Amino acid sequence: MLAIEKSNRYQVLGVNISTYSKDEFFFLVQMRLKDDDENSPPVFIVTVNPEIAIQSIIDNEFKEVLKASTINTADGVGISWAINFLYNKQIDRITGSDSFEAICKYCAELDQRVFLYGAAPSIAQKAADILTDRIEDLKVAGVYSPTDRGTPFENLPEDTQDSMRSASVVFVALGAPYQEKWIHDNLGKLPNCKLIIGIGGSFDFITGNFKRAPVVFRKSGLEWLYRLYLQPSRWRRMLRLPLFALNVLLLKASILDNKKTA
Ligand code: UDP
Repeated sequence: MLAIEKSNRYQVLGVNISTYSKDEFFFLVQMRLKDDDENSPPVFIVTVNPEIAIQSIIDNEFKEVLKASTINTADGVGISWAINFLYNKQIDRITGSDSFEAICKYCAELDQRVFLYGAAPSIAQKAADILTDRIEDLKVAGVYSPTDRGTPFENLPEDTQDSMRSASVVFVALGAPYQEKWIHDNLGKLPNCKLIIGIGGSFDFITGNFKRAPVVFRKSGLEWLYRLYLQPSRWRRMLRLPLFALNVLLLKASILDNKKTA
């Protein structure tokens, strides 16, 4: 049986990316949802894209969060490209948006409650309504959208704290790096949490508030371009993509250099 561990990983700009295939990843998710041992640690998942990798270079606190997480998946096509380029290995992309509904389905099958945290107030509730319509038996413990992304758990309304505490799975949609930092700082206050994941704009995608890129864009790795077209305000973030590529090229050069001198 696969153990949820941190051993098999590829490093991309200092961030460890897990080597699990999609099937292995979802198998581990189900295994953790079935595990009722209160001593089993929660699984903290980060879906890594190039912007996250660059952020980890300039933000030490975030770097530590990415070391503390349980599974870092390759979300952006840039990450799977980098692993192929640096280590000559193909890895599956596992995105937050694709995982969101799949994990909800497992929760329904295994009778585990979910909590939706983040995005705009009406969006989180609408996402919950859509999911409960689509997935028979899905139990939503609650939804909450903080006005301030840094709000600690203990400052949330009492009833929100209670319902979040009762959930097995918490989806956090505050955008990176806020969602991962929030998880890192507050996970210890969620005793029943088996799995927690930062999922960016996934509530917006499922409700149609943000349109997901057509499949042809997703398959060709140009989802970022489509999102830039829909949300031009993202241009500043996109400047990190060439920076990421440059860092990966430099890393490759140093790997080759080390091989030569070895
Ligand atoms: N968001 C939020 N509070 C804020 C800013 C953003 O809850 O102060 C939410 C936003 O509504 C969206 C999510 O964060 O649902 C992720 O946004 P983004 O597009 O940055 O994430 P990405 O999908 O690029 O990771």
